[in-house]
Amino acid sequence: MSQVSAVALRELHRILGQLAELRGRLERGPKQIAAHAASVAKLQAQLDVAIDAVKQTKMLADRKQLDLKSAEAKIADWKVKLNSASSNKEYQAFVEQIAAAEMATSVLSDEILETFERVDENTRIVKECERVLAAGKAEFDKVKQHIEATAGTLRAEVTRLETELADAEGKLPAEFKTDYQRVVRNKGALGLAPVDEDVCTGCGQKITLNMSNQLLTSQSVFCKSCGCLLYLPER
Ligand SMILES: [Zn+2]
Repeated sequence: MSQVSAVALRELHRILGQLAELRGRLERGPKQIAAHAASVAKLQAQLDVAIDAVKQTKMLADRKQLDLKSAEAKIADWKVKLNSASSNKEYQAFVEQIAAAEMATSVLSDEILETFERVDENTRIVKECERVLAAGKAEFDKVKQHIEATAGTLRAEVTRLETELADAEGKLPAEFKTDYQRVVRNKGALGLAPVDEDVCTGCGQKITLNMSNQLLTSQSVFCKSCGCLLYLPER
């Protein structure tokens, strides 16, 4: 059992907690940037699909218009031939052929109108995708800029706290250092826990009266349940 003051442990726990928080923020930064970049890439892919859909429907409309033109040319041709039919039978055959072809061109005309409507709808979707992508890119730039701008400050703060931690650890009694380093190496800031009304705040277990007395006389105490280095909070 070595002597270590609650003041020293509180200070160490504060520094370790702040360091963990700042290092966590530093580590999350690039992950946040990557997540936003992935989201932008997804929106770009959606836009590409929408642009392709417009292209495909326009090509379909063009093909149908060409079909309509050639069908109309055929009908015009048959109408000429109709007038020079050599027999009633031939005449009748042209009349039926023309009627059937006109029916088909009417259906085709409707299809062309529908295809144009789909082109319009797909064009609206492209506009919407462009809007969402622009917003996503703006958000990405904002997040990236913010994270990069704060990273320098965070790193400086981490360096400052590391110095502070080294100073505080340097003041620990030599015989206590091994035990302290073991918990901190394993659990970081979570390796220390204040005792609240004889309960370890690390795991919620009650400590013994003996442990409580040891804490009051500034002896190093580890929770028997979770292994945390215990200390008394400020009163
Ligand atoms: Zn505990």
